[in-house]
Amino acid sequence: MEIKLNFFGAARNVTGSCHYLEANGVRLLVDCGLYQEREFKPRNWADFPVPANTIDAVLLTHAHLDHCGRLPKLVKEGFRGTVYATAATAEIANIIMLDAAHIQEEDVKNKKRRHEKQGKKSPFPYEPLYTMEDAEKVNALFQKVKYRTKVPIGQGVTAEFREAGHVFGSSSIRVEIEKDGETRSVLFSGDVGRWDLPIMRDPDPFEQADYVLVESTYGDRIHEQVASIPGELERIINETHQAGGNVVIPSFALERTQELLFHLNNLLNEDRIPHLLAFVDSPMAVKITEVFKKHPELFDDETMEQVRSGDAPCSFPGLTMSQTVDQSKSINHIKGTAIIIAGSGMCTGGRIKHHLKNNIGRPESTILFVGYQSNGTLGRIILDGAETVRIFGEEHEVKARVERISGFSAHADQNELYQWLSALKPPPRKVFVVHGEESAAAAFGQFISGKTGWTCVVPEYGHETVLD
Ligand SMILES: [Zn+2]
Repeated sequence: MEIKLNFFGAARNVTGSCHYLEANGVRLLVDCGLYQEREFKPRNWADFPVPANTIDAVLLTHAHLDHCGRLPKLVKEGFRGTVYATAATAEIANIIMLDAAHIQEEDVKNKKRRHEKQGKKSPFPYEPLYTMEDAEKVNALFQKVKYRTKVPIGQGVTAEFREAGHVFGSSSIRVEIEKDGETRSVLFSGDVGRWDLPIMRDPDPFEQADYVLVESTYGDRIHEQVASIPGELERIINETHQAGGNVVIPSFALERTQELLFHLNNLLNEDRIPHLLAFVDSPMAVKITEVFKKHPELFDDETMEQVRSGDAPCSFPGLTMSQTVDQSKSINHIKGTAIIIAGSGMCTGGRIKHHLKNNIGRPESTILFVGYQSNGTLGRIILDGAETVRIFGEEHEVKARVERISGFSAHADQNELYQWLSALKPPPRKVFVVHGEESAAAAFGQFISGKTGWTCVVPEYGHETVLD
């Protein structure tokens, strides 16, 4: 038995997930994600290390851009194989890839315009990484798979997807290879979620694998115990309502927005907040929420129970899912308190900037952060307590209250990752620690080998290894 494995992304860094596996003459990728760390972005432009037209299949763990965002480029380079994913992952990935393509096309146009104005000329062609047309083409290649069902890929290679509990539709995937009566399995964790997250079911770990690739985003950390999320939301909304301002929440379109709607619906049902107008002002979040509604089979028991009693988890009276620019603009004219959820999650673009412009100078309004804000983003600048911020080229004094609820996370921490790995009996032959900053991956590898005695390695980018 000879299985070739190579690490084309998320090796000693977090984004650009892409693992290559070759066995029995079948060539496949697990994920084909975009690099988002500035220092690694040039890799997005490089040709794939293996010619795209020789790859037979892509197994997609979930719809985050750092896992699916290079698929349109793979297709542009000649990939015509099948992309296997759960239905929800395929549908959400399609929305996310189209949005990414649109942003890239716009960025190129703006850059060209700016350069012309400045009399500059770029040494590079003014071209997006891929277009919306390229992104559309991926859609036709999806084959939707069910959890806990063996999917034949060909030549004795099969794949099984199981719930990863990270975002809606997310999976861990075990690839099994059969040859001459022997079987080997390689398990790809994807991004591992957490137990007891709202709406979604818990991670469903595998009990056996010969080789494992495990993520390590928070492999060196334990999530802090925080005050309850509903309790914090209740306090902030009631205080802002009394002050007479708006609650403006920058949010990611996938998962965080739906979690917020879930909590708001419960708070309303329990009469803990007043019946206010609420808006999801993000066309992408609106579309993704529709995918949630289409797949109640993915809900956990608690949410299912709610649905059976006639209460939809992502909607409530007074909520507007605003798609058009006119709907978005009309939010400005509301008197009294409104809850406004908009993207982008770190305030780097999107409609949130309009709502910040209209609210950041009002002491009665609250800007509420519910997600990670990376260095240098407008979100981080506000969160760090800047007195003035620049929005659309104009300085604004920060007079609004700035609040943060830090208990949201879709990633397992060190203990939860260990819990996920602990389901494996007997011990795997080798564990490859991926999808984490170098220090986090190394710390997690040491932690796991200390706990279990298993062999753990942190592979380098482009490192080819042969499994026997
Ligand atoms: Zn993810």
